[in-house]
Amino acid sequence: MKKIIQNLLVFIVCVLPLVKGECQHDSDEEIKRFQEEFSQQYFNSILPNHESQNSLRKLQNSQEIQNIRVTLDFSYLDTLQLGITDKQKAYIQKISKIAAQFVTKLIKVKPLMGNNIYGSSLRCIDIAVPSNDQKTGVENSDLNLYIIYFNSGSSALANAASCFINPAYQRPTFGRVSFNIGYLTNTNPNSFKFQLDLQVLLHEIIHVLGFSSDSMQYWIDPDTQKPYKLSGISKINTYQTVRGFKTLILTSKNVTDIARKHYNCSQLIGMQIENQGGSGSAGSHWERTVIMNEIMTAQQVSIGATLSQFTIALLKDTGFWADVNVNIAGQILWGKNQGCDFYNQACQSSNKANYLEFVSSSQVEGCSLTNDGYGIGINDGFSDNCYYIQPYSNMLCTDLSNQNNSQTDLKLESYSTNSRCFMSTLTKPGMLGSFSSKSRCHESQCSSDFSTITISIRQLNITIECNQPGQSKAINYNNKKIGDLECPKNFNYFCSNNQQCINNCSSNGLCINKVCHCAEGFTGADCSISCLSFYENGNCVNNCSSGNYANPDKTCRSTCPDGYFGDTKTNLCQQCDFSCKQCNSSPSQSQSLQKNCTKCSLYKYLYQGNCLDSCPAGYYGDDLSQECKKCSQGCLSCENSEKCIQCDSNAGVILNQGICGSLNCDQFSNCNQCSSKTCLDCKSGFYLLNLNCVTPEQCGDGYYANKNTKLCEKCGDGCAKCSSKDLCNECAVGYRLSGGICTNCTYPCQKCDLINKSACQTCESGYFLYQNSTCVDKCPKNTYLDSVSQICYACQKGCVDCQNQLKCNQCEEISGYYLFDNQQCVLKGDCFSPCLVCQDPKNPKLCSKCQDGYALQDNLCVQQCKQGYYSQSVNGINTCLKCSDTCLQCSLQAEKCLSCSNEKVLYNDKCLTQCPKDYIKTNNNICKKAYDDTVINSSKNLSFYGIETAFIFGFLIIIIAFV
Ligand SMILES: [Zn+2]
Repeated sequence: MKKIIQNLLVFIVCVLPLVKGECQHDSDEEIKRFQEEFSQQYFNSILPNHESQNSLRKLQNSQEIQNIRVTLDFSYLDTLQLGITDKQKAYIQKISKIAAQFVTKLIKVKPLMGNNIYGSSLRCIDIAVPSNDQKTGVENSDLNLYIIYFNSGSSALANAASCFINPAYQRPTFGRVSFNIGYLTNTNPNSFKFQLDLQVLLHEIIHVLGFSSDSMQYWIDPDTQKPYKLSGISKINTYQTVRGFKTLILTSKNVTDIARKHYNCSQLIGMQIENQGGSGSAGSHWERTVIMNEIMTAQQVSIGATLSQFTIALLKDTGFWADVNVNIAGQILWGKNQGCDFYNQACQSSNKANYLEFVSSSQVEGCSLTNDGYGIGINDGFSDNCYYIQPYSNMLCTDLSNQNNSQTDLKLESYSTNSRCFMSTLTKPGMLGSFSSKSRCHESQCSSDFSTITISIRQLNITIECNQPGQSKAINYNNKKIGDLECPKNFNYFCSNNQQCINNCSSNGLCINKVCHCAEGFTGADCSISCLSFYENGNCVNNCSSGNYANPDKTCRSTCPDGYFGDTKTNLCQQCDFSCKQCNSSPSQSQSLQKNCTKCSLYKYLYQGNCLDSCPAGYYGDDLSQECKKCSQGCLSCENSEKCIQCDSNAGVILNQGICGSLNCDQFSNCNQCSSKTCLDCKSGFYLLNLNCVTPEQCGDGYYANKNTKLCEKCGDGCAKCSSKDLCNECAVGYRLSGGICTNCTYPCQKCDLINKSACQTCESGYFLYQNSTCVDKCPKNTYLDSVSQICYACQKGCVDCQNQLKCNQCEEISGYYLFDNQQCVLKGDCFSPCLVCQDPKNPKLCSKCQDGYALQDNLCVQQCKQGYYSQSVNGINTCLKCSDTCLQCSLQAEKCLSCSNEKVLYNDKCLTQCPKDYIKTNNNICKKAYDDTVINSSKNLSFYGIETAFIFGFLIIIIAFV
């Protein structure tokens, strides 16, 4: 019952809604219709009629790539009359600009030559394209986005799609993004919600960039350099039934590579695409179950989302973009290195207990996997019926506005960008036990080496230190317990998982992986400083001073962040090639193959200034340094420095146990195959010893020739000459031979403890181990010899001479023991349980009084008297007494029969030969009145149930009122 109340309580307290919002980017009928129409037009007329295509492509080949120019057209915010407010317009413009600016850092293209022209007669989905855009085109634009809106009470946040593919460049150049202002009620949200809104915008733009089931037909096949078209889409799309759902698997190269590495499953054929939620969500998002908080999943999660390597890889696989910036990606820990089983089975796996990503049901309360907040298990409609903890929006640790929750101070909580979720019951002194929730948001900080997590409880001005993962700490304040706090189970995970930006970028920038990408006009690590140019030492400056570089957040610093290098000519941080994590200059234009990288991002390896997915022949990717390192000499292909896979036969080397060995081994005698350092394979009859091949005799003292391994191998400890590891022939000085091994333990001990030599473990033959330490030639008094183990074991208690544990020959009479039943030693006067008092001090079985719960019958103690007997206390002794002769069974007294013996009938507790008048005999031989209508009285059960129910509700009301 307690459980029911708790669950109900959790539900009542947390009734505030989860952040819920779906992207229905192409569920809109209009988008679907448009896509079909455009596809036909594009492949039938626009693309084939584009005659200068080949010459243009040639021209493009000579073009340098540069950051994409994204232009935004807000004019429809004014012309559509659907009840938008000026504040909503301004808000949409603000977040659109920040998201578009971020996209320019994300993608490089060969820029469009001339203006960006809308080269189709079709509308852009649901809007008429300005004629100017169709004729003259948009200036300085590689991608023009029409920003529009709709006004709906549905859960859809926004939708978006591309609406024109440029036939010369074969990539989207126009798109439209539509906001639901019905959802956009708060145009002045706190910095956390501002991030969530920005993420929506970025999500929609990524649909325009090609992440859409409708767009895949335009993706460029790297084999043909032409669009896949619907007819060729099966090259990158395949279907599988996953966890009971028909699921699209995207099998394009980069996505497959990343999925294999992320899940650590080399058998993956691709990555799962969302399989639930109708045409708007399914097919155009990552599958929620296997990658919960990626920005391109179908539904917003309360903790916010990350743009990860998965989406970067997909954008590469579209073939639309010259380069995509992998350095900008945030990390996803959901499912990381969890293996094929996690990817395939998820919460349906028999191994699910090891997948901390999932919980068993909605009954489970706790911290989210990323410790961003707490809530109960949910199945969000996209997670293939798997339950996971998604925090309630009002229990999201990083959302500052939750600091005002009524219980924050009572539960000693703190909501800030430094707050994380802990399993904790801390409660204001004196109030312990007042809250059912076992999770809290506490401010915490990790030490730089992740060995310590310090938790600050501001309300009491105390700190708690976690040094041991998973440790449960009872916390006291003024010598009184205020609750328990459990340290995170995995410090590395806990500490490396925090991707929060300072102050959530102050509502002036987009936070991706701890970095703020500030809006135009704002600078600083948290975008809090208003400055149109650069910010240095408290001033707005036009240029950073010498030795400082203008960072992407427009702050002048002596260093540049990952993905940038300090340009000493301009004092600007300039972007590296997207493949580099760090570089020392931009790619040399003359040799465009040289990227000048000095460090590579995840899953890439540095080779001659370039970051590669896999190392060239003769090299292996070293995961620690993320560099390509040379295989050992003569090795053409290797897994690592120790293990070669293929040797260079032209160089006269052959693979032998992962090493490339030469057959030309003049430097070693009697050697078949060798490396530069050692012989790998000796000639027949010779054995390897210290890099050389020798005869068995030459193996020398302390060694023997092992025919299987062809090595001289060491004899056992203390052995001077041996035939094998276990068969010594002659021991070294100080040792003596015993059963083929050499021992230096004190005779007659054969094997003794290495540290405590007096503790013997086995004895020489003819001796027996006694008390686990000494060797004796005869087992002493009170012990017997176990013939199998050759160990002297103690006899039973009170026995001086025994055959084994059970059979004693002679008891210790002097201590009061006597031999009972010719085998057992019993202390005089002792009785066998459950007898309390024995009749005879030398017979423990013959009882005169039993323990409680037993009755005495024929001098023995029984739990139930024999048939025909009943138990009754006689002189304080529970005794079995005989029922009267006519009763078969009786209770309480001899005459009170419960049933009768043959031929008799039961009437009024008595056994008679026949029933009296007006009575009939039942099948049970009981006399019953003919009209007696006995029914089971059910009203008793009913009233009991009534009381219980009333009690539950009463209790509940009390608790709710308290909370
Ligand atoms: Zn979407």
